[in-house]
Amino acid sequence: MAENTFKEEREKLFYEQKNVRDIIDDAEMKLSDAYCERYKAFLGKARTEREAVAEGIALAEAKGFRAYEPGMALAAGDKVYKSVRGKALMLAVIGREPLSKGATIAAAHVDSPRLDLKQVPVYEDSEVAFLKTHYYGGIRKYQWVTIPLSLHGVVVLKNGETVNVTIGDREDEPSFIITDLLPHLAKEQAKKPLAEAITGEALNIVIGSLPEKDDDGKDRVKFHTLRILNEKYGITEADFLSAELEAVPAIPVRDIGFDRSLIGGYGHDDRVCAYAELEAILSVDKPAKTAVCILADKEEIGSEGVSGMQSEAFETFMTDLCDSQNVPLRRCFENSFCISADVTNAFDPTYPEVSDKRNNARINYGVGIAKFTGARGKSGSNDASAEVVGKIRRVFADANVVWQTGELGKVDEGGGGTVAMYMSKRNIDTIDAGVPVLSMHAPYEIVAKLDCWMTYKGIRAMYNAE
Ligand code: MN
Ligand code: MN
Repeated sequence: MAENTFKEEREKLFYEQKNVRDIIDDAEMKLSDAYCERYKAFLGKARTEREAVAEGIALAEAKGFRAYEPGMALAAGDKVYKSVRGKALMLAVIGREPLSKGATIAAAHVDSPRLDLKQVPVYEDSEVAFLKTHYYGGIRKYQWVTIPLSLHGVVVLKNGETVNVTIGDREDEPSFIITDLLPHLAKEQAKKPLAEAITGEALNIVIGSLPEKDDDGKDRVKFHTLRILNEKYGITEADFLSAELEAVPAIPVRDIGFDRSLIGGYGHDDRVCAYAELEAILSVDKPAKTAVCILADKEEIGSEGVSGMQSEAFETFMTDLCDSQNVPLRRCFENSFCISADVTNAFDPTYPEVSDKRNNARINYGVGIAKFTGARGKSGSNDASAEVVGKIRRVFADANVVWQTGELGKVDEGGGGTVAMYMSKRNIDTIDAGVPVLSMHAPYEIVAKLDCWMTYKGIRAMYNAE
């Protein structure tokens, strides 16, 4: 058979993607694995947005970042951070160029779908004590029953004192659970659509079952449980009124697969990108442009609230930095570039019907760039310009960052959004890029290690771009 004389020309003309494993060498595989071990450790500790912020601050301080104080004199290479009320975090490394030339921003979020406790959550029914919940973010409710849950958050007492609660993740601690029907009695429930079989008001968490012995009042199990809570945390039922307690899956972060190529864990969306940004900015020394890392809260419920990406907490921080150089904030924004670092859906071979295979991100094909998100004809999307995609394409190519394009499912199949639109609204060129996830928003999500690594490499390359 004659050799294909078109081989070279075909390679030049076709856009063909390769699995990251076929591109990188064994030495880089080792770097990727080591990076993912650090990410797994972070994810294991950062079970909530507050814990992610606390962990982020601890890692940043260990690398010489200081809490920003208004009026602080800042020189190139200075490293500062600002906590937004303990629920969001912004970090910056001052660049060699003035902020009038813009900053390189990466914005991820550290809140994840979960079950929040209601403000009057404790009740007893048929001698079992429960907590009422109100789910946070887009969950598929049927996935949250019959799995162990832990409780995390804060209780603010009447006197202003704050009590931290973290219980249910360690092996020597009790966990909590939501019940479901046995198949033997689920005939009617099983006929319902998935979205209706388990209702929001059925997501009640079991927290106790023993009555207070020798007490002859009512709700003796609730009373017994409240006594334990009072002894352990010094709280009463009324203190739940000013509490933020989150129930999250009490399932440890694990490698998945015989080849250990995947990571299973709760909250990859979006702590996997948050960690990539964090480690990237911690590695930055004296960048040309000021590097800014944002770990935002409230993305899963529309980026609202004082700690969400729509909040002017971001303007306040950036204005402070700009003021130190007598630069108007609007000039800085106009010349800035933002990676909205958020996860995207990975093509799932078990459910191919929801995706356009040619345009859907795949695991192990690198960081997924989404030119647009949104739904029903790109509505609610940032839709980055070709110039913006071109810029990130160049930077990634120069740094050997393997990337792929991806959009969230088939046209009109569904959709979603990120913080991108709130960044571009500020007159900042913005593009979505992040790790493809399998079972996104489930209590236990899956990512590929090589994609985590490429996302970190990509953000680091953007921060270090000249
Ligand atoms: Mn997300
Ligand atoms: Mn999400």
